[in-house]
Amino acid sequence: MKINRRDLLKTGLLSMGSLTLAPYLRAGAFPETALPLDNAGRIYYSPMVREHFLDEMPAFKTMIRIGSNENPYGPPVSAQNAVAKAVTGGNRYAWQEMFALINGIAEKEGVTRENIMMGPGSSDLLEKTALVLFAKGGNVVSADPTYMSLIRVAESAGATWKAIPCKPDWSHDLEAMEQAIDKDTKLVYVCNPNNPVGSVTDTAKLMDFCSRVSEKVPVFVDEAYLEFAQDATGSMVSLLNQNKNVIIARTFSKIMGMAGLRIGYIAALPSTLAEIQKITRGGMGISLTSIMGATAALADTEFQTLSATRNDEVKSYLYESLTALGYSYIPSYTNFVIFPIATEGKTFLSKMSEKGIAVRSFEIQNKPWCRVSMGTLDEIKQFVGALKDMA
Ligand code: PLP
Repeated sequence: MKINRRDLLKTGLLSMGSLTLAPYLRAGAFPETALPLDNAGRIYYSPMVREHFLDEMPAFKTMIRIGSNENPYGPPVSAQNAVAKAVTGGNRYAWQEMFALINGIAEKEGVTRENIMMGPGSSDLLEKTALVLFAKGGNVVSADPTYMSLIRVAESAGATWKAIPCKPDWSHDLEAMEQAIDKDTKLVYVCNPNNPVGSVTDTAKLMDFCSRVSEKVPVFVDEAYLEFAQDATGSMVSLLNQNKNVIIARTFSKIMGMAGLRIGYIAALPSTLAEIQKITRGGMGISLTSIMGATAALADTEFQTLSATRNDEVKSYLYESLTALGYSYIPSYTNFVIFPIATEGKTFLSKMSEKGIAVRSFEIQNKPWCRVSMGTLDEIKQFVGALKDMA
């Protein structure tokens, strides 16, 4: 079953903006390409994965929010103080402060400041990269399952998605991904560690892959969760010093605990950034407060270590509890864990929501899974309690 956006426009339905049409509208602009729908008339999401949300988000204040991979310990106090102090300077644009932050990031990453572009969260940069690179269609190659933000925007710009199933250990099947590249491939997207499965891909193999493949097409490596992986995998940013066409995305939302403050960056070749900056100025969407908060958080390695340590402690507790309850799980190198469940996704979410708990469910390989983010130990204990009650 297929539906064309132009047909929707002709019938006038698109302009009605009705709720039933919301998914089509969300899918983006108006290229000629058809949006593939599944048998239930829903937007086709992935050969392997469908993600479930509750239709209505229950009131946040009553919720244990362990659905969006946020960091329950942030923002660091150092960042909070910096944000508060910055408020009085809010009458000015924050160019100078942003350039200072860019210098700090470049130093940390071992690249030059010409390699860095800032955005209000890495989502913004994922999306802008997709809008630029897929303006004339083409295809994007990635693992399946993976994080869909860039791919969705690529599809809405008219690109097709070449979804390459993960290997049995849920790492990227780099060989198959390389084989999938063809003359229309505009970008390869790698999420390492990978959301929603939490797996990592071997650093040396990925380095080799990126090094070779980026000679043909740019490789986008989304490293949102890298700091949680500790030594299990590494950044690809050093490839920029060999002039490789990689785009590395990093965020202050996860290990730094600043998801609501919205700040992230990409590191790429200056020529690649120049392409992206044809449609957008980097950094214009970020407030002075976020910039000053990020500057403080970047220096606050103590907070980052604390986040990673607590995350590991809570994860160990969850692993033990899941095993005791008879669940299996995919070992995770992130701040979330995914595991198969016996209940259909939406029903599971509703039951959790009745207990004031917000998690996410996915359908992977036609089976329901729950993805739970590492809240505090107390929050995860409540989640485990809710799982027991559901048994
Ligand atoms: N990349 C991955 C893999 C993510 O999981 C997320 C958010 O959950 C993001 C990017 C976007 O994060 P943000 O826009 O907050 O930087």
